[in-house]
Amino acid sequence: MSRLSEKFQPLASESVPRYAGVATFMRLPYYPLDEVEGADIGIFGIPWDGGTTNRPGARHGPRQIRDQSSLMRKVHPVLGLSPFTLANCADLGDCPVNPLQIEPTLAQIEQFVDGVVGKGMMPLAAGGDHLVSLPVLRALAKKHGPMGMVHFDAHTDTWDRYFGGCKYTHGTPFRRAIEEGVLDPKRIVQIGIRGGLYSEQDDDWGLAQGIRVMRVEEFYDLGVERALQVARDVVGDQPTYISFDVDCLDPVFAPGTGTPEIGGLTTHEAQRMVRGLRGLNMTGADLVEVSPPFDASGATALVGATLMWEMLCLMSEQVAKQR
Ligand code: MN
Ligand code: MN
Repeated sequence: MSRLSEKFQPLASESVPRYAGVATFMRLPYYPLDEVEGADIGIFGIPWDGGTTNRPGARHGPRQIRDQSSLMRKVHPVLGLSPFTLANCADLGDCPVNPLQIEPTLAQIEQFVDGVVGKGMMPLAAGGDHLVSLPVLRALAKKHGPMGMVHFDAHTDTWDRYFGGCKYTHGTPFRRAIEEGVLDPKRIVQIGIRGGLYSEQDDDWGLAQGIRVMRVEEFYDLGVERALQVARDVVGDQPTYISFDVDCLDPVFAPGTGTPEIGGLTTHEAQRMVRGLRGLNMTGADLVEVSPPFDASGATALVGATLMWEMLCLMSEQVAKQR
């Protein structure tokens, strides 16, 4: 960890209005990965939706989330902290991708995150569709070994293959991650799961691996505090990733996404859930599946930006603890 530096401060809202200037995540300075030195947390976009099986558009997520994130202020009122006084945070720009090729893009993303980790940063990524989590996890597992994961989603994303044997889609990242040994299935909790299945057996594989699947019905029966206790018990104090698919929220709150499912979490519940993971042993996090073409008001990108802000606050506390 490096010393806190003025060069990682967001634009001052007192002098530069929050709607003004070039949009970066949380109004942070932009430092390309090959130039950044001394950052603790690297925020970047993965503008790619080549794993999408239905409505596309998540490739446009990072740019829209950056724009909406200019609404963030510096201090979290409930946690009582500012991440920018605890950690050096930077916008690393967007990871290189190829919109026409799946597996080469997964390699490009992994290589980019290798660079993030290699420079001592914790990654916070904005998708992109949910397949982008797989190469991020591959890179992080080289440092941390098989990780636990708190996964917010309407879908388990542990399906096997689509359309004649395609292994890599946004419905399969966590099956692949478990098969590859980058996630420890017994330390995965999936929260908000709902929606129809392709067959009665769809859930069997994940459950047989030992994943703790908390369907949305159970989430509402438990309530936020007890659901958080379940999540904490599953992941424990070992290295854990947080992956947040914005379709975990009800489409009333987050309509701009590719595969919406009704009956989901409210924005307030989502904020409370992420915030309540304070103190987790985090390795990194992502927010995926914001699809601006389906987000007429920009509200879904605001949800995405705000949940990334919640995750950034947790990460900064962890960085400060380890400094
Ligand atoms: Mn997903
Ligand atoms: Mn989903």
